[in-house]
Amino acid sequence: MPEGDTVFRTAAALREALEGRVLTRCDIRVPQFATVDLTGHAVDEVLSRGKHLFIRVGAASIHSHLKMDGSWQIGRVRGAGHKVRIVLAAGAVTASGVDLGVLEILPRASDMEAVAHLGPDLLGPDWSAPAAAAALSADPDRPLAEALLDQRAMAGVGNVYANELCFVFGRLPVAPVSSMADPLRVVNRAQQMLWANRSRVHRTTTGDTRRGRELWVYGRAGLPCRRCGTPIRTDTSGSRVTYWCPSCQR
Ligand SMILES: [Zn+2]
Repeated sequence: MPEGDTVFRTAAALREALEGRVLTRCDIRVPQFATVDLTGHAVDEVLSRGKHLFIRVGAASIHSHLKMDGSWQIGRVRGAGHKVRIVLAAGAVTASGVDLGVLEILPRASDMEAVAHLGPDLLGPDWSAPAAAAALSADPDRPLAEALLDQRAMAGVGNVYANELCFVFGRLPVAPVSSMADPLRVVNRAQQMLWANRSRVHRTTTGDTRRGRELWVYGRAGLPCRRCGTPIRTDTSGSRVTYWCPSCQR
């Protein structure tokens, strides 16, 4: 699932592929923007803000969000050709946006309005742990996992990190935010987790990069807890699936 680290790495790959190059092809397969043609303009800048991506080309800014299944692929698209929403090429280099949750062309001068609602970006230059901690604990009764996922408090945490952070701090995903004695530690740990994974293809929160050992609880329903051996529980009834160890988390 794309989270802030995935988007950060995607931006780095797009930057490497396109920045400073003149577009020789611009094929946008979204009806609303199908007539937009940025061919002949140089890609000035690629940036990520939380889980949002911006490719700035002249007076335009290509804003995308990967949501659940989206990706940007450099070179040949792997499978799912009909899900390609945009193709950009600069000479021999091609970048395709596949199954994007959001794709829109914004005026560059005002593109940041699309992310004005976001809290500090965990991987951005605007990161502020005290501001994020204050926003996280603003509503003390809110379930912890839900608060961690709120991009207005801090931008970049997705469902994998939300569940992993709850485990690391020994709290159930449904425990109230007020059960966290020190919200500053939580946001700092979130930032460390995403930062450590920003260049990795397979993210790890356990510190172990071996396949099948990367995560504490996420996606491990029924498997033994890595700390105590109790089977990991899951709840799929809400809008976001949760995972927890019934012994380690309260
Ligand atoms: Zn356990």
